Amino acid sequence: MKIIRTVREMKKTLAEFRGSIGFVPTMGTLHQGHLNLVAESLRCNELSVVSIFVNPAQFNEKEDFENYPDNYKSDEQKLKDMNVDILFYPLADEMYQDNYRYKVTESEYSKLLCGLNRPGHFDGVLTVILKFLNIIKPTNAYFGAKDFQQYRLIKEMVAALFLDVEIIALDTVREESGLAMSSRNNRLSPEGMKLAGTMNPLLRKESDLAVIREILEEKNIKIDYLEEIDGRRYIAAKVENIRLIDNVQI
Ligand code: AMP
Repeated sequence: MKIIRTVREMKKTLAEFRGSIGFVPTMGTLHQGHLNLVAESLRCNELSVVSIFVNPAQFNEKEDFENYPDNYKSDEQKLKDMNVDILFYPLADEMYQDNYRYKVTESEYSKLLCGLNRPGHFDGVLTVILKFLNIIKPTNAYFGAKDFQQYRLIKEMVAALFLDVEIIALDTVREESGLAMSSRNNRLSPEGMKLAGTMNPLLRKESDLAVIREILEEKNIKIDYLEEIDGRRYIAAKVENIRLIDNVQI
């Protein structure tokens, strides 16, 4: 596995390559949800690039950014073990050499759900993904349905800007309890994991949002939003002050 840290080397390495390129963007602390995306990329493309970049532009709270876990060495090993071709691990100074003066903004769907309580979050996501797509020029890029709003915004950005890349979503990978795997789960205590594990079964089984809200709030789970949009039910909630999200099709 080749590890690349600069945009220049990334572009140079891929310049002569004529086959299909799969791309999986991540913020690291890799779990089975990420590795599933990587496996699909490896299966469907001649060359696969995985990026690890904790994108400062998409964090609206400095503290959340600073507390985001970093497990680079074990991530690198996991990707090596899967025979990933290229790990792109860029520096924020280069990714944002413009000091983030240029950004991509979507003005409707990005203002709902995670956009409501995290102003600027999706500007950061869309901008960094556009940068990655321009650097790597992948044939296919893989995203998790766990972040469904993000997936939809990226897919629609690609259509709006006429980019030549297929945006593919894969199902959410879950713990046995139904809890969506997340790098943030590492920060929960065993009791917090248990508590968080009660969210998904409720989302699936209970038909009334008000009832779900009441049950979760009784357990001291603090709900950021709980909404249904276009046949999908979305939740963001804090367990032990860790913000977790999930969504299910209804
Ligand atoms: P992140 O490192 O959280 O930015 O996630 C990188 C990619 O992995 C995104 O496309 C996420 O939607 C996806 N992802 C994260 N957790 C899961 C999961 N539990 N199941 C499937 N995909 C996931």
